[in-house]
Parts: sequence; C-alpha cells; structure tokens
Amino acid sequence: MHLNFVCSLYEEQVKTGRFFIHEHPALATSWEEPAVKRVMKLANVQVSRVDACQYGMTGTYHGEDLPVKKPTRWMTNMKGVTEVLHRMCSGRNGLCSDGRQHATCTGKRAEETAVYPLKLCKAILQGITSHLRKVGLLHEGCMGVMPDAEDEHTAEYSGVSECDDEEIGMAKLQRVENSPEVPQRTGVQWIGATKNVGSVQAQGR
Ligand SMILES: [Zn+2]
Repeated sequence: MHLNFVCSLYEEQVKTGRFFIHEHPALATSWEEPAVKRVMKLANVQVSRVDACQYGMTGTYHGEDLPVKKPTRWMTNMKGVTEVLHRMCSGRNGLCSDGRQHATCTGKRAEETAVYPLKLCKAILQGITSHLRKVGLLHEGCMGVMPDAEDEHTAEYSGVSECDDEEIGMAKLQRVENSPEVPQRTGVQWIGATKNVGSVQAQGR
C-alpha cells in the first residue's frame, strides 16, 4: 500500500515535470512490483545500483570499523543523480575493494547503517545540484530553485535568499509582484528546493 502510494507520487512528479528519488535494498522484492515497474518506464527514469561501502558506509565488528556493502538500487528521473549514484564494490570473496573484510549488515550494524554515510549524502546533493543546473532550474551564485513559468502562479513562495545575478533577481521580483497569490512585496523570493525535488523514500532497512 505504502509502495503504491509513493509510486503514485513519483508518477505525478514525472508527469508535472518535477523530480523524485527512490531507494530500496537491491534484492528487495519491491523492484518486481507492478507499480515500481510502471514508474521505471516513465520519461527519463533510470535505475542504478549502489554498494554503500563505496560511499563510506562502515559498521563495528569486534571493535573494528569495517566496510558494510549494503547493496541498494536507486530509481530517479534526475540523470545527474544517477551519474553519481552507481558505484559498486569490486571486492571478491567477502572482501571490500580496499582489501578489508566486509562486515555483515545485521543486528546492531543494521541499525547503524540505517543512517546514510556523509559521502553518500554529499553525492545525492551533488547529483541533485548538477541536475538542476543542467535543466536550468538552479543558477550559479543563487540559493534555491527558480520555478518554471507554469509554476508562476501556483508556486508556494517561501523563504528569502540572495542572488548575485541582479538581472535574474529582478526578473524574478517582477514575477512575484505580478503574481495574484503574493499580495505584497517582501523581497526576492525563491521556491524551496524540496518542491521540485519531490520525495526521497528510505525505508525498509
Ligand atoms: Zn565493499
């Protein structure tokens, strides 16, 4: 039920030109569910495999910090995210690519690895940023995301941030002033990144 619900959100995101990221264990049966397969067929949706050890995931084994492989698959319609989330471990026979033994992802370590390592978080953010720049929603020197023209009157304008590019700032200000949903001028306002990025599902660990 939950899976069907998030998949319906992903479909809506794609159909309205917005984005989503979905992650689940690589061997989870959810990848075979019709709702997930439907999303995979939507425009620009790609699936990639990630071994968490390649992004710094570790767990404690007999007092030692060891890499944890924890294979996951990621599904997104942001090419920039797929480009940074695809690293797999080349180690064999229980060893990680750096030669250390993998620790299993069980018991207490399973709890520890419910938290994404910093390197993985950074990769996700870099992927989102590079994708939004490529599609022209994020501009150099700006904080936040520019709404599409069609979002102009429906966007929920929240938060204020600065922009070095005066021209873009003024163009945006003009739109805010002209928007019937924004009765008073409160400065240059930007749509929050989360509106365009959509939902990140990280459950079932
Ligand atoms: Zn590894």
